[in-house]
Amino acid sequence: MTTEGPRWASRAHSMKPSEIRALFAVAARPEVVSLAGGMPNIAAFDTDALADLTARVVREHGDVALQYGSAQGDAGLRAEISQLMTLNGITSNPDDVVVTAGSQMALDTVVRLMCDPGDVVITESPAYVGALGVFLAYECDVRHAETDSLGLTAQGVHEQAARARAEGRTPKLLYTIPSFQNPGGLTQSPQRRAEVLQAALAEGLLVVEDDPYGLLGFDGHVPQAIRSHDDEHVVYLGSFSKIFVAGLRVGWALVPQSMRSKFVLVSEALMLCPSNFTQLTAREYLRTFDWQEQLQQLRDGYRDRRDALLGAMAEHMPAGTTWTTPGGGFYSWVSLPEGMDSVEMLPAAVDALVAYVPGTGFHVDGRGRGHLRLSYSHPTPTRIVEGVRRLAGVMRERT
Ligand code: PMP
Repeated sequence: MTTEGPRWASRAHSMKPSEIRALFAVAARPEVVSLAGGMPNIAAFDTDALADLTARVVREHGDVALQYGSAQGDAGLRAEISQLMTLNGITSNPDDVVVTAGSQMALDTVVRLMCDPGDVVITESPAYVGALGVFLAYECDVRHAETDSLGLTAQGVHEQAARARAEGRTPKLLYTIPSFQNPGGLTQSPQRRAEVLQAALAEGLLVVEDDPYGLLGFDGHVPQAIRSHDDEHVVYLGSFSKIFVAGLRVGWALVPQSMRSKFVLVSEALMLCPSNFTQLTAREYLRTFDWQEQLQQLRDGYRDRRDALLGAMAEHMPAGTTWTTPGGGFYSWVSLPEGMDSVEMLPAAVDALVAYVPGTGFHVDGRGRGHLRLSYSHPTPTRIVEGVRRLAGVMRERT
């Protein structure tokens, strides 16, 4: 045995724990109000009814549910997903739906298929931390495009693509969350979506549209997906984690027909097939529950929490603090008063029993110290107000 460490593949060097994961242990202490991780509010579900559902899946469909299945996913579930996506304005063939272990795996599969080391991925500024982890694992060169109050800008996409080309790099993917973005809380208007799509097409980019929150608009309006305007250059990622339960780990990709067979091959190499048990649970949930009513309850619960967060920030935050007003989803992005540093402040916040994620977690280039992300999805409204009061106290000591 040598005393040297593991002989890592080069891609292992760019893998590092996300700031959010490192925070989870701290934030899980019951006395800490966690405004950090975006945990769905599973308390909104009737667990007895879900226990009956899973028992029924085993009893009535056990021969399939407990067996290996198709690499692409259960045909019945794929038909339900295709139907579900009509809410997002998407017309699809269930043959182009691939079921994955959460949409996180779908993103991994896209990047594995499309990106060589050094290829450029353009995304929002700030960007979803879980996606950044995938891009870095495949040694992609991540570029943050400029955003405004409607999220990603077409101008930003053009700028980053041009800059990458000038540096001899190949711009490959545009990764975007057009609805209730994580972490920005912003939503692209229909006009903005059209502009972003045009920019991607002009730059020869494959669009990866990540849409786990699209059905969680607080006014019940469902923004129409970018994928509804283009079925050849957009991979659409969907998930049951936020509209049903995250513990199932069922997500999906709607892929351009030309990509489908390779996509399934990669997925098969990764896990043989998605879990039939959790897929059938999702399928039977859609078939036999009033899930639209449940969705409405989720929206109402998240809206109450958002209102608690915004109200408490308006009351307690020191002058010079600004934040986004999300129309759905789980997050508000906070800009700190001049000179305040979210990384430096975090230990003091945890001492004061409140947790958040510093803005640096959502950038690959060290930016974000002047920002932080607050998630209101999990604590009760009363706890959210208390968490903001504690955080504002820590901030005030620094003004
Ligand atoms: N995309 C975004 C934007 C998310 O916020 C999350 C979960 N935090 C995911 C993807 C991962 O979803 P899943 O549970 O389906 O893997």
